Amino acid sequence: MINKLKRMEVPFVSFEYMHNEIRQEINEKFAQIYNKNIFIMGEELTKFEQEFAEYCGVKFAVGCATGLDALYLILRALEIGRGDEVIIPSNTFIATALAVSYTGATPVFVEPKISTYTLDPRRIEDKITSKTKGIIAVHLYGRVADMDEIREVADKHHLKLIEDAAQAHGAVYKGKRAGSLGDVAGFSFYPGKNLGALGDGGIITTNDCKMAEKIRILGNYGSVIKYHHKLQGTNSRLDEIQAGFLRVKLKHLDKWNSARNYIANQYLKGIRNPAIILPVGEDNENLCVWHIFAIRTKCRNELEQYLSDRGIGTVKHYPIAIHCQEAYKNLSIEKGSLPLAEEISSTELSLPMYYGMTQEQIDFVIETINEFKIF
Ligand SMILES: *Cc1c(COP(=O)(O)O)cnc(C)c1O
Repeated sequence: MINKLKRMEVPFVSFEYMHNEIRQEINEKFAQIYNKNIFIMGEELTKFEQEFAEYCGVKFAVGCATGLDALYLILRALEIGRGDEVIIPSNTFIATALAVSYTGATPVFVEPKISTYTLDPRRIEDKITSKTKGIIAVHLYGRVADMDEIREVADKHHLKLIEDAAQAHGAVYKGKRAGSLGDVAGFSFYPGKNLGALGDGGIITTNDCKMAEKIRILGNYGSVIKYHHKLQGTNSRLDEIQAGFLRVKLKHLDKWNSARNYIANQYLKGIRNPAIILPVGEDNENLCVWHIFAIRTKCRNELEQYLSDRGIGTVKHYPIAIHCQEAYKNLSIEKGSLPLAEEISSTELSLPMYYGMTQEQIDFVIETINEFKIF
């Protein structure tokens, strides 16, 4: 029986095609840096910071070691810490919450809009207390959150507005890029992100000169002058090698994001199965960069197995809501109290999405899903 199944290898993600295309550029960049023998805080970093800031439409960018560090350094620079609260969406990758926890502050979860999976601006005010210092809006799955509405709430309550743009390099909201929409933003260059390093990396973007300077100091052991320490900082820097590779990759980002957009539109047009809820399409003012193409279904495990039997890779983003994770049992948030996050975590499945997916692969995913029978 199994032998008769139509099968095609469609991995959940593959860097092969993308990296083959830029092999020569990357090799040249590596040779340049290797010959220069400068590996930390050199010219590649400075140039990449300028280029990335320009790409996002902000004045400053400061490289750091990871996306988690980007968020942590932002919160440290804002002097958020013990006794404070920071609002984050209930359905995000755990790093958003951990960045808050690392400062000693408490993450406070607000439910998303089920249509877009981004923070619901109408639910924020209920969770604001005298301890609330900031809001982290996550551009989850590559779609920018409702920044105008969130900004209104933030301003009304004098809260800092931070973007977690780890999944949204290049995304656009009302003509402006992710990373330029809050007071300050954090990005990740984890290899699987829309713009990924060949290892770990992160960056902070802002128009606030003082903030940029403070973050730079915090990420470099709290010092401007070597061995003179103004702040109890940490070591979180973006290596020359990664900055150099990212400069090469940034030039291709728009092309890679368009490919994602094409795949997403094919999925949206082609997938017709009553068992499956598709993500909403984008409107004209905004550009979703489809970091993840998230569908929902009550028969998630069956669909996952069915697709896997036919060669199609999928991933769940994310299978356990943060408040239900063992790591966060200290918050004592009861199961059932954040029903949307729990609904998403128990029904979400992400389809293959990467630059270099062939038309045959896209068509095969669509046809295979359309033939899936409800259990
Ligand atoms: C990936 C990610 C991060 C953390 O980035 P790292 O580089 O892995 O530390 C933070 N927030 C979100 C939403 C992410 O997807």
